[in-house]
Amino acid sequence: MEGEARLVAPQALPEEREERALRPRSFDAFVGQPRVVNNLQTWIKAAQRAGRPLDHVLLTGPPGLGKTTLAHLIARSLDARLVTTSGPVLEKISDLAGMLVKLKRGDVLFVDEVHRMRTSVEEYLYSAMEDCRIDVPIDDGIHARTLSVSLQRFTLVGATTRAGLLTKPFRDRFGIQERLVTYAQEELEEIVRRSAKVLGVGIDDEAAALVAGRARGTPRIANRLLARLRDVALADGAERIDARIAARGLRMLGIDAEGLEALDRQILAILAESPYTPVGIKTLAVATGEEVGTIEDVYEPYLIVRGFVRKTARGRVLGPRGFALLGIEPRAAGDDPQGTLFP
Ligand code: ADP
Repeated sequence: MEGEARLVAPQALPEEREERALRPRSFDAFVGQPRVVNNLQTWIKAAQRAGRPLDHVLLTGPPGLGKTTLAHLIARSLDARLVTTSGPVLEKISDLAGMLVKLKRGDVLFVDEVHRMRTSVEEYLYSAMEDCRIDVPIDDGIHARTLSVSLQRFTLVGATTRAGLLTKPFRDRFGIQERLVTYAQEELEEIVRRSAKVLGVGIDDEAAALVAGRARGTPRIANRLLARLRDVALADGAERIDARIAARGLRMLGIDAEGLEALDRQILAILAESPYTPVGIKTLAVATGEEVGTIEDVYEPYLIVRGFVRKTARGRVLGPRGFALLGIEPRAAGDDPQGTLFP
């Protein structure tokens, strides 16, 4: 059964359809994350040989790194049906209960943004995950009772950008936990070349390298940039994306040579205003007009990994590359009277 169909409504936007088409359909086509892929394939093979459903899986890592894709690949390898939902959609216990009772043995239930489930809904999942049982409330008021219902053994695949927000009892119930990391330049180049083939557009190696270098280690961003460069080529009547088209397109998108977008540069500018004093995440959010979660999940991971920003106990400061980019002299440890910069 083609589990992927569930993610996209029949009247999917062209962009959504494109994203679906770009999603690798086998572990072989999934570029990078060798440790995660090898581990998952091993656990899947073991479960199949033992004739039991796969343990619950928690996939963590920043957005766009392939968590949803892996959930699809897990279901596909198990030859299982994939049922998808997300933390914010499961508002009430009854929403979750309704979904759980319909699961068949071996089904994979994918819950995206699993950290955004309410505590009551999360706790309700415990017995389902552990004992394949749930208490279903029947009747209200003075007649309120619950009925213990047994479920088919299913595999929960949870995806989260914020593993730290999950409670320990919840996290501990995932027997398999894998963390995705940002992709290397060569891996992103491979993804760009593969995606270009799927989109039916030619791309030069130099242009693929330019796109990969601006993609913040993230396949979703690489694909998004590629789609826009494809449009630039189309508008130009060009047959393929060459380095000239790529460079011009990236300039049009406001992405600089470091892969930084306007909001990244804004964050760096705010930190540069008081370069030796940490700035709190809430202050950054107010100053940029973005949500704290978006800064933490989307912008900060790349800025930190690449050394533009450093996280200290008291807030964010410029990292070594941030100082260099902005031409500000970093202070040595001894010059930091409050001990905030180099804890
Ligand atoms: P997440 O669920 O972590 O936000 P997705 O699985 O939705 O990320 O991936 C975003 C897009 O990036 C997908 O459409 C897919 O095309 C692409 N992608 C992600 N990981 C890979 C990979 N390892 N190889 C090729 N393409 C990938």
